[in-house]
Amino acid sequence: MGVLRNGLNWYAKISRCGAKPIPPYEHVVQIGDPILRRVCEPVPQNEIKNEKTIKIINKLHYVVDKYNSLGMSAPQIGINSRIFVMKYTAKQVACVPPEIIRQRDIKIVPFTVFINPTLKVVDYKKVIYPEACESVKSFVADVARYNEVEIKGYNAEGEAVSERFKGWSARIAQHEMDHLDGKLYTDIMDRKSLSCSCWEEVNLSRGKINIPFTPE
Ligand SMILES: [Zn+2]
Repeated sequence: MGVLRNGLNWYAKISRCGAKPIPPYEHVVQIGDPILRRVCEPVPQNEIKNEKTIKIINKLHYVVDKYNSLGMSAPQIGINSRIFVMKYTAKQVACVPPEIIRQRDIKIVPFTVFINPTLKVVDYKKVIYPEACESVKSFVADVARYNEVEIKGYNAEGEAVSERFKGWSARIAQHEMDHLDGKLYTDIMDRKSLSCSCWEEVNLSRGKINIPFTPE
C-alpha cells in the first residue's frame, strides 16, 4: 500500500494560482470530487435556451475539444445539470487502427448536445471493451455496455430530439448518461482489468513521469 497523501500537500502550489475558479470550469474534475456523485438536476423547460444553459454547452464544447475527448458531461466541469455532449470526429477516428474500428464498431459522430436526456436500451447484448474517463485520469478498465441505445432529449436549440447509437457511439452515450446519475465506470468495471494507461512509460522512464491533469 502506498503512502496516503492528502490535498494539503498541494496547498502551497494551489495558493499561487490566484482566485478559486468558478464553474463551469475549463478543466475536468477528478474522481473524489463530490459533484461526480450527485444525481444531476434537470434543466427547467424555460431555461433550456437561456444564457446560463448556452454558457454551459459552450464550455462543454470547449473542454471536450481541449481534452480531445469523445464526450463530456456537465458535472465534469462542476455543473449539476442534466447536459452532456458527445462526438467522434473524422480526425479522431483516423487515429484508430482499422481493425479496432471494425471490431469496436467505431463511427463518426458529429458534435451532439443532449439536455435532459433519457436512455432506452435497444439491443440488450452487452459488449466488453476498455474504457477511460477524463475524470479518472490515466486509468483504463474493461466495461460491459449495451450494444445499442436510444437517447431522447433536447438539443442546443431547445428542440426535442431522439437518436439511436450503436457500438462505440452507444458506449459513449451510456458513459455520459451515467455521469448525470452520479455514476462512474469504476462502479461497473471488471476490477481486475483496471490499469494505469502509462504503466509501460513508467518503466521506460524509470518512474520519472508526470501525469498532466490538463492537456499539454
Ligand atoms: Zn467520464
